[in-house]
Amino acid sequence: MEPQSLAFRTRARRAIADPVIATAMQRLETGWQLGRARAAAALPEFDALRDAAVAIKNHALSHLDLYLEAFERRFAERGGVIHWARDAAEARAIALSICREAGAKTVTKSKSMVAEEIGLNPFLEASGLQVVETDLGEYVIQLAGEVPSHLVGPAVHMTRERIAELFAKAHGGPPKQESAALVAEARQVLRRRYLEADVGITGANFLIAETGSIVTVTNEGNAELTQGLPRIHLAITGIEKVVPTVEDAFTLLRLLARSATGQEFAGYTTFLTGPKRPEERDGPQAMHLILLDNGRSSMLGGAMREMLRCIRCGACMNHCPVYLATGGHAYGWVYVGPMGSVLTPQFVGIDKAWTLPNASTFCGRCEEVCPVRIPLPKLMRHWREEAHRRGLAPPTARAGLGLWGFLARRPRLYRLATRAAAALLGALGRRRGRFGRLPLAAGWTGSRDFPAPEGQTFAAQWRARRGGRP
Ligand code: SF4
Repeated sequence: MEPQSLAFRTRARRAIADPVIATAMQRLETGWQLGRARAAAALPEFDALRDAAVAIKNHALSHLDLYLEAFERRFAERGGVIHWARDAAEARAIALSICREAGAKTVTKSKSMVAEEIGLNPFLEASGLQVVETDLGEYVIQLAGEVPSHLVGPAVHMTRERIAELFAKAHGGPPKQESAALVAEARQVLRRRYLEADVGITGANFLIAETGSIVTVTNEGNAELTQGLPRIHLAITGIEKVVPTVEDAFTLLRLLARSATGQEFAGYTTFLTGPKRPEERDGPQAMHLILLDNGRSSMLGGAMREMLRCIRCGACMNHCPVYLATGGHAYGWVYVGPMGSVLTPQFVGIDKAWTLPNASTFCGRCEEVCPVRIPLPKLMRHWREEAHRRGLAPPTARAGLGLWGFLARRPRLYRLATRAAAALLGALGRRRGRFGRLPLAAGWTGSRDFPAPEGQTFAAQWRARRGGRP
């Protein structure tokens, strides 16, 4: 997918004016946001688990080479085949060759953000394969020709009426009114697809080095049908997903669903350890895993290292005032919300996404709720600095920042300038108490008035209140 992140402002404006998105985002606030708060409050060791999760991920990342090799050995011992992919193009080519070798015509697929990251669906489709998404949300957006707008709920921005229209067009028959009827219809269509598929593609939430297992987490059981029914199972994930032990995976699993949706555990958590054995009746005949780097190893030694702890729970976006105003499509690429504002510049280049780290109020809620305590505002600030250093922001913004930086390094001058500005604005705005327009502040006054200051700076008022000299 070509990144559209530079158009964030335009896309955000359009999204903010869309009442359907506003309703969907309200549902997130009252649903998953409250759900997380309840789940965290009900588990006394929630914060201790977060500390343990940080330690597990940091340890695994510090010894990533060793754990990946250990995982590869165990995975191969269980009959799996590992493929290492340096970048998106290599990963796509490997996936296609596996499908071709299997003589595949139809491929089923459960939700995988890494597959979105490398643009797998359009590539396979352009190569003549029929790809069928089996996660309900992914299936809906596939029918709509859209991309996911949320990590956990890809179609969270859609209304039931819109989904009913899409289903009626794709499956025939009148649009259904009830959610349950729509789910039953999708289930009926997809069941047939599972049986027709030659290859099933899944993501992987975790890889376990000690057993060579892949862990998948869903609420619909579609990953199990995707990997278990076709002859070939192909999993695809990033190299940072490996953890040392089963116990470590459980520590992270206890946080994942609670942080994402407020559930104690997702509906289906499956540990897949190799393809079907001779004595087993079910399962794929062969199991492949594509391990994708795509810039992750370069993150290990750099400023973005902490981002590799991300377990893709979506909590940061569920609590972000910017995401909750704009929805996910405004971000213009695969990863959205605060985690997307950090990852997108990393994957597509800061020159194509410098707008995203600025799409934040820096209120810190994302960091507060992140189960693996990723300092998202700090990482966004890094990208802001990088964008400023490269001169990517508009000249007026850079000049304004330059002026502010000049003053901030000279406290006396800063105090004089802010005092003069506060006095001037106080005098000019005394009569109305507010400004409808101000030079250099159109971003603020475009949608609301600017309150006239008292005539004194905040620092002066603070000192006066504490009994000091104003
Ligand atoms: S950055 Fe943290 S909160 Fe956001 S998706 Fe990743 S793990 Fe979840």
